Amino acid sequence: MSNQNPIFIPGPTNMPDELRAAMNVQTSDHRAPDFQEILLPMFDNLKKVFKTQTGRVITFPASGTGGWEAAITNTLSPGDKVLVARYGMFSHRWIDLCQRHNLDVQIIDCAWGSGAPADLFEQHLAADSEKKIKAVLVTHNETATGVKSDIAAVRQAMDAAQHPAMLYVDCVSSLASMDFRMDEWGVDLAVAGSQKGFMLTTGMAIVAASEKAVAATESATCPRCFFDFSDMLNANEKGGYPYTPPLQLIHGMHASLHRLFDEGLDAVFARHHRLAEGVRRAVSAWGMNLCAQQPALYSDTVSAIYVPAGFNSDELTNHAYNAYGVSFGVGLGNMSGQAFRIGHLGSLTDVMVLSGIATIEMAMKDLDYPIELGSGVAAAQDYYRQSATLNKQQAA
Ligand SMILES: *Cc1c(COP(=O)(O)O)cnc(C)c1O
Repeated sequence: MSNQNPIFIPGPTNMPDELRAAMNVQTSDHRAPDFQEILLPMFDNLKKVFKTQTGRVITFPASGTGGWEAAITNTLSPGDKVLVARYGMFSHRWIDLCQRHNLDVQIIDCAWGSGAPADLFEQHLAADSEKKIKAVLVTHNETATGVKSDIAAVRQAMDAAQHPAMLYVDCVSSLASMDFRMDEWGVDLAVAGSQKGFMLTTGMAIVAASEKAVAATESATCPRCFFDFSDMLNANEKGGYPYTPPLQLIHGMHASLHRLFDEGLDAVFARHHRLAEGVRRAVSAWGMNLCAQQPALYSDTVSAIYVPAGFNSDELTNHAYNAYGVSFGVGLGNMSGQAFRIGHLGSLTDVMVLSGIATIEMAMKDLDYPIELGSGVAAAQDYYRQSATLNKQQAA
């Protein structure tokens, strides 16, 4: 099977050769006096991606789930009340993590395909007259459903309820692909990972913590050791890591940040929007439906697409893999068998996305889906032709 085909799962994402090469470095001593020259610039550059001036960036050798655990255990204590809406597999898994840390999780169950319910958050917070709720948890981009939530609206709801809870945001599948504004949106803890928008191997959890969140570590009593913010911040201040750092990923992160800044963050977001819109045009040409309930919720990094009644989406993704050597995301949780996902984030161009649309179309036709071969491709081609702005990043 060819390993040249792009991958269309929503993470880990395709790695540009340039970033793979940047990670291919020999071991060097992380206790050497010049290690800080490698480590420290990474934090300042990551702050630009989170759009924070006052927050601290903290990294751990872990996947995004480790970032969730770090955010929770450093800032909360067992029994603390947290408010969270469940509208997909990732918000569900974050709830599970909180429950296993013995937090008192107040869950608002929403339809999968909807986004963070700012109005309901406001009601729950306003009703909490004793201010028992310590945190509001939001998944910015629900990767299971292809839904992007409005974080500014959640912050407004919290302010309108005059509630002091902190705002925790999972931006694992949005950061570095869609706009994220930590300071402007009043986010206290933001959690990301290296393997999605940053186009690197899995293995670096990236957390940004506001001053308020860093201060909360002093009274938070959830057990933590590996993920301790203070240990990490103290070591980082001296130019080091409290244990062995993921050296190759740190080199990769430098290259990734340079690549993102070279293209320009706004251009990166615009490219993701265009790629996503082409996919959405294809879905509509097939006569199929997105899981996301309305255009304001459409994610620019992943689309979850319901297959017609009577078809099994797992058969479709398996067939695309077996027959054509291309991976698409499966339906997760409640959506298993009913939807497949096209990941369109990271290192992708129009041409690559067109190949994905063409491939899933072939797989659908093979399985007798009621679609016309080429219809989705043509819809996306039309859109890409109209909106083409070939820049050096696309050509590179
Ligand atoms: C990928 C992802 C995660 C983290 O998953 P890991 O496999 O632990 O890296 C968390 N939240 C969302 C929304 C994600 O897409």
